[in-house]
Amino acid sequence: MHISVIGTGYVGLVTGVCFAKLGHTVTCCDIIKEKVDAINAGRPSIFEPQLEELLKGAINKGLFRATTDIDHTVRDSDVSFICVGTPSQPDGSINLQFIRSAAESIARSMKDGHTIIVKSTVVPGTTESLIPIFTSSKKKFHLGMNPEFLKEGSAVQDFMNPDSIVIGYSDDYSRKLLEELYRPFTCPKITVNLRTAEMIKYANNSFLATKISFINEIANICETAGIDVTEVAHAIGLDQRIGSKFLRAGAGFGGSCFPKDIKALVAWSKSKVYSPKLLQSVLDLNADQPLRMIDILKSVVGTINGKRVSVLGLAFKPDTDDVREAPSIKIVDQLLKIGAIVTVYDPKAMDNFRSIFGDKVKYASDIKSCLKGADATLLVTEWDEFSKLTIEHFKLMKSPVIIDGRRALDPDKLLKMGVTYLGIGWKNK
Ligand code: NAD
Repeated sequence: MHISVIGTGYVGLVTGVCFAKLGHTVTCCDIIKEKVDAINAGRPSIFEPQLEELLKGAINKGLFRATTDIDHTVRDSDVSFICVGTPSQPDGSINLQFIRSAAESIARSMKDGHTIIVKSTVVPGTTESLIPIFTSSKKKFHLGMNPEFLKEGSAVQDFMNPDSIVIGYSDDYSRKLLEELYRPFTCPKITVNLRTAEMIKYANNSFLATKISFINEIANICETAGIDVTEVAHAIGLDQRIGSKFLRAGAGFGGSCFPKDIKALVAWSKSKVYSPKLLQSVLDLNADQPLRMIDILKSVVGTINGKRVSVLGLAFKPDTDDVREAPSIKIVDQLLKIGAIVTVYDPKAMDNFRSIFGDKVKYASDIKSCLKGADATLLVTEWDEFSKLTIEHFKLMKSPVIIDGRRALDPDKLLKMGVTYLGIGWKNK
């Protein structure tokens, strides 16, 4: 099949490269020329395991290219996947400007019988709302909705090995086309109407975000009573009705999806005259959670003004360079407000963080230089390399204090080394 993909972010580029790996001819379009040029040179605009190697392989086989020329690309393809961003507006509702603009570009150039699949996360009713744009082209078209469930940090792996595939369709042709495209995948395929497909994605992310805020709330309660939340989480995770995933307490969820999607569902529900109470609480708890690390810090170092604080981990989670809505942003912002001298280190996300904080913080080139001379360290993202901290690292600090915002370290080991260990959901009292 000849596939065009509109948008070359996490979802667009991974979708395009993976479909090329499956033997389709793919052209990815973006409005940012630098991204397109880098992709054509075999350099993905994002960091994702396996992506660069798959991209280079697909380019070499002549199955993949990127362009800013949407018109020609759409004209020469059978199906277009819309994978552009759907950011939040100030009131939390979804901004559909990029979706509409992509739909207008497709409508302008598509041939009779073209199929358009919305892959971006959009509130129920959005895909149907695009119908007038395509109808105005006076050409026949087919419309589908195929939400994406990949996780940043394992995007390629997730795309290629999904737990399920949701096929939202408006007519038999779009359903059959998606079934054909996904034929090599053996997972369950859920075939539903467009609105249901849109809602499944929001329900999925809302449930996962709720699970995180739930265990964070339990962690905050545990702290008041000298209970280690990881023991509690381990025990309840063995109950198969609960399951062990997404039960790691910490400094809160971030990234480009959970905060934005939950806010969008809340705002959309309110517009339908239903005010979601549980999901609003999930958001409220998550907004406060990063700042709990600063409360714990104050409890151990006293006044923070003038103290040197090192921050390990800036990306919203390990194995990505994405800092969108990362808890590190809120934490560093607050540390600076209360007069801390902040040094940060992340294996991949330094450039993205620098574009937000500029020269307000110091950027260390490795863990050791980040810790040197610090009064305390905050572990905010659980990169694997941080789990290997040794006494040699802590000896570099002015005082060996670490606050574990991801419960990624072994407290007993650190305490035996003479390190002052505190953490979210740990027996800090
Ligand atoms: P992104 O911001 O990383 O990338 C979007 C890309 O679209 C950008 O490169 C932008 O320049 C491009 N773009 C915008 N308007 C365009 C237009 N008219 N024509 C061509 N290109 C255009 O976004 P993302 O993280 O890939 O997310 C895309 C969608 O997928 C969102 O709705 C998101 O919620 C959803 N989603 C994201 C993830 C994730 O992990 N990032 C997972 C599942 C679903």
